[in-house]
Amino acid sequence: MQRITLAGGDLSRFESSGTPDERLLLAFPPDGTEKRSYTVRRWDADALEMDIDFAVHAGGTAALWAARARPGETLGFSTASGWYDPPSDAGWQLLLADMAALPAVSRILEEMPSSDRVHVIAEVTTPEDRQRLVTDAKLTATWLHGSGNGAGSSLLAEAARSWPLPSGPGYVWFAGEAKVSRVVRRWLRHDLGWPADRYDVLGYWRENKEEWVARYEAVREQIEAAADSALAASKDFDSVRDAVDAALDRAGL
Ligand SMILES: Cc1cc2nc3c(=O)[nH]c(=O)nc-3n(C[C@H](O)[C@H](O)[C@H](O)COP(=O)(O)OP(=O)(O)OC[C@H]3O[C@@H](n4cnc5c(N)ncnc54)[C@H](O)[C@@H]3O)c2cc1C
Repeated sequence: MQRITLAGGDLSRFESSGTPDERLLLAFPPDGTEKRSYTVRRWDADALEMDIDFAVHAGGTAALWAARARPGETLGFSTASGWYDPPSDAGWQLLLADMAALPAVSRILEEMPSSDRVHVIAEVTTPEDRQRLVTDAKLTATWLHGSGNGAGSSLLAEAARSWPLPSGPGYVWFAGEAKVSRVVRRWLRHDLGWPADRYDVLGYWRENKEEWVARYEAVREQIEAAADSALAASKDFDSVRDAVDAALDRAGL
């Protein structure tokens, strides 16, 4: 993980959305045409400083930039918004994250009130990538090492399924690899039958992106047709996502 602290420039114009998993688009040198999503790990409105934590991996404009960045370089940034939104009656929370989502989880925990009860399952590359999680909340955590994160199959979805769910209403937040996000959403929505306001499940990145994009292009029309017909049937957002997930499954994507 490479932390970069941004300061100066147009940061005086940045307005935090106030949501702890808030994300913005960063535009990278040389010309800003390459843009990637990152989480605002820390925003100090007085000092006009922003921390971004980059999970460094092989390949990639953003990861390469972060690994080589030196003081004085510049990035473009967009407005920010986030998803984390536990219902007020949630008596417990489960946060599921790989390396790319660890910055969001760390900030969610730092801003959590002491009355909250939360379990984190975090999947990191090596034991050295574990981070100290700081929170006032009642926290328990499970760390998975050596799986996922582009280094092998992710065990996050399996670990979530085997975690004994506490009784009473809860909330689950997941962010990580896109295919894993589909498995987790299916578990929550279809196996557990939870309503959509009890979870937020986000695909942050895609394993073997280049190969996936090439294969997607070949079936793009089928996937878009599935989305269009779900939309035309005035289905809600999650039903449209079901239709797209099913079409991707059929295409082996
Ligand atoms: C809402 C949101 C918030 C995010 N916040 C963060 C954050 O705070 N920190 C962070 O590190 N990432 C974060 N991400 C993920 C980040 O946007 C992606 O990992 C992005 O693809 C990185 O761009 P890149 O240019 O490095 O690689 P790309 O050009 O997108 O991909 C190059 C190659 O690297 C692989 N790859 C991409 N990402 C990863 C990864 N994480 N692990 C292993 N292999 C990968 C691809 O499959 C591809 O083969 C966030 C994503 C979203 C949607």
